[in-house]
Amino acid sequence: MKMNAAEQSNRRTTRLHTESNPLYRMLPSVHELLQSSSLAETVARAEHDRLVKSARRVLERLRDEITQGLHSESTLKLAINELPDETGDENRRGIPHSLRPMINATGVILHTNLGRAPLSRKAIENISAVAAGYSNLEFDLTRGERGLRDVHVESHLLALLGEAAGMDLKPTHRAIVVNNCAASTFLALHALARGKEVLVSRGELVEIGGGFRIPEILEESGAVLREVGTTNRTRIADYERAASANTGLVLRVHQSNFSMDGFVERPPLDEVVSLGRRLSIPVFEDQGTGLLQSLQAYGIAGEPTLAGSVGAGCDLVAASGDKLFGGPQCGMLIGKREIIDQIRKDPLFRTYRVDKLSYAALEGTLQHYLSGALDEIPILRMIQRSAHDIAARCEQVTAAIGNR
Ligand SMILES: *Cc1c(COP(=O)(O)O)cnc(C)c1O
Repeated sequence: MKMNAAEQSNRRTTRLHTESNPLYRMLPSVHELLQSSSLAETVARAEHDRLVKSARRVLERLRDEITQGLHSESTLKLAINELPDETGDENRRGIPHSLRPMINATGVILHTNLGRAPLSRKAIENISAVAAGYSNLEFDLTRGERGLRDVHVESHLLALLGEAAGMDLKPTHRAIVVNNCAASTFLALHALARGKEVLVSRGELVEIGGGFRIPEILEESGAVLREVGTTNRTRIADYERAASANTGLVLRVHQSNFSMDGFVERPPLDEVVSLGRRLSIPVFEDQGTGLLQSLQAYGIAGEPTLAGSVGAGCDLVAASGDKLFGGPQCGMLIGKREIIDQIRKDPLFRTYRVDKLSYAALEGTLQHYLSGALDEIPILRMIQRSAHDIAARCEQVTAAIGNR
């Protein structure tokens, strides 16, 4: 912003004026404030250092108000009279929370700005059990030696997906977890297709949100984008024609935040998988939502599922932990053994490492799925409600708060 000379001089005089503002001199010192009789009881009970910090914060706020020109001598006197009480309150409140619980009355069940999936009670209990002490995060208790942190969820994930897809995945597949689905996709491209071409339908060169754009991620990963088909129509023959000796991967991206209607065509996943097999090119699907099984029972048709992607024979599938899966923020990568092993060997894998709290929450969520207690997972419970019912609840909440 450019200021003209008059404004500059104006600003200088305001600053000089505030620096010499006599109102500042009316403020008591911390020591004087703590001597006031109405704080005597608090001073006797409270921890001294904490109380001093509270008094400093309260004084600092008042000083800021003076700087902003909010006080005359008389209003400042009133405010100074309130200082002992405010210091007591401040000391009871402690340091304010920045991250805090909210009521979601937006009607949007999975809201990224509001922290996406709330966790189940069991997931939270698992977190507190593991967070308070030491754990076997990287220790193999049966062998009595160093272990891998991914084992805590790998066998559950393979059992769950195998059951949902009607396959035994344990002998052929592996699973790993990273910070989020965006990281899974980037890492997979980096590990499997750096310096090689990746075939992507033009209809899937999408932006997921928060600036995560497939073409840019691909470029950053060192892979080379090879566009296939057109925006509205891509056929299996388009993939076939684009494939070459330099093709490292076929990437499918779930169009999770938009839909295309009309003159559109997209080959079913199993046809893409068959082509990949025939040409010996691995097929990677960024499934995104983490939805395990069909939502048909709740009246939502056609939403792709993790079970469907694995069942179709994809070599690798990536999904978020905190969308329709209903668990903690993470990215799950489930794939053929040799593919996952190759990703594990990528030096970047270590930089996307997930902490013990996420494993604890993810294991808790997986336990609900495996025991069939799906209603324990808050997201799955909430999406069973009708839009009408959700709207009515939101109205009730906003009416109760009086903020329409
Ligand atoms: C949401 C989504 C992502 C990003 O997942 P995060 O867990 O938010 O990183 C990537 N791909 C698809 C298809 C998605 O739906």
